[in-house]
Amino acid sequence: MAESTTDLLVEMGGRLRHLEEQNLLRQRRVVDGPQGPTLVIDGKTYLAFASNDYLGLANHPALLAGARDSLEQFGVGAGASALITGHTSVNEQLEAELAAFVGAPRALHFSTGYMANLGIIPALVGPGDIVFSDRLNHACIIDGARLSGAQFRVYAHGDVAQLERLLAKNTRPHPLIVTDGVFSMDGDIAPLPELLVLSEKYDAWLLVDDAHGFGVLGPQGRGSLAHFGLASPRVLYMATLGKAAGVAGAFVAGHGTVIEWLLQRARTYVFSTASPPMLSGALLVALAVIGTEDWRRVHLGQLVKRLREGLVGLPWQLLPSETAIQPLVLGDNQLALDVMADLRAQGIWVPAIRPPTVRKGTARLRISLSAAHSVEQVDQLVNALRGAAGRMSEGLAR
Ligand code: PMP
Repeated sequence: MAESTTDLLVEMGGRLRHLEEQNLLRQRRVVDGPQGPTLVIDGKTYLAFASNDYLGLANHPALLAGARDSLEQFGVGAGASALITGHTSVNEQLEAELAAFVGAPRALHFSTGYMANLGIIPALVGPGDIVFSDRLNHACIIDGARLSGAQFRVYAHGDVAQLERLLAKNTRPHPLIVTDGVFSMDGDIAPLPELLVLSEKYDAWLLVDDAHGFGVLGPQGRGSLAHFGLASPRVLYMATLGKAAGVAGAFVAGHGTVIEWLLQRARTYVFSTASPPMLSGALLVALAVIGTEDWRRVHLGQLVKRLREGLVGLPWQLLPSETAIQPLVLGDNQLALDVMADLRAQGIWVPAIRPPTVRKGTARLRISLSAAHSVEQVDQLVNALRGAAGRMSEGLAR
């Protein structure tokens, strides 16, 4: 027994070394203090372009006050799953306001986005059904689809023509088409109008994971469907609340019947402790700020433009993106790490993203902008990247 345990550990240690040799070993950093344009990471202050706090709400005083009020009223924990006694009046209000905000009849609140997709997809489809998924969809969509036991078909990124060919050949009833609204590592927006047309033509569900579009896109930040002016009872709109909304959690909104079904059958909802009520208190305030403070989206749009203009002519490819996610593709894993280290030496933190998060040969810096950044801070990043590019081409990596 003891010997076989040791063998397992030796084998696992070997696998870790293998990751290290491929420059794929990830390192956790310790952050002190709240989110913001500057972050204290491992004891040092950096100008950071790394978080998904796209509107700068994670440390907003009004959200903190909203959390505190609910904390006083409800305590720290929900105490039970929602179907037992964990569903508080503040959660009930949040669900109603989320549904109204995205223009859907009803919403269901999950404790994280990962849990939402792991719950929603297997509640909608099972063995005998089929899921069509964009190649660049988030890991939790893929895991949710795998868990469902449905057949899983991947179409090339944004390739509506290929999806239509697959749908035309499909014989299984009520397929599920699933897509990120804004792709998390590329920053581009899914072709939602075309996907909705296909879902109508082929009698499919359309599940949109708008983790990176909610709060950022559309009028008042109502998300990627609103960006295109789309609404349909066959669309399920899922979004996370730990990114632009600045807190944590997720929700799914749609027709009352399908939301009731998910409430009954989404296992990650039914069998998991409800989200702490204080988070719902903060989220109610976040929704009000998202819906009224247009200046945050306007400023973010200006920063995106400034960055893109500033990086013209760099030897690396800045992917076409109009969202807060601005990926600079370097290709090689080590080059991505070298450029990240170069920026770090200049006091700037931008994460290098490598496989398996992105495809082999497409390692990148994932620059994420926030309404909390200033124009001067974006200029500082542009200058630092230009300097890094010069040093890399001269082979003078620090
Ligand atoms: N969907 C997408 C597209 C995401 O990018 C993420 C998180 N990075 C999630 C879902 C998971 O959300 P959460 O962090 O709330 O678990």
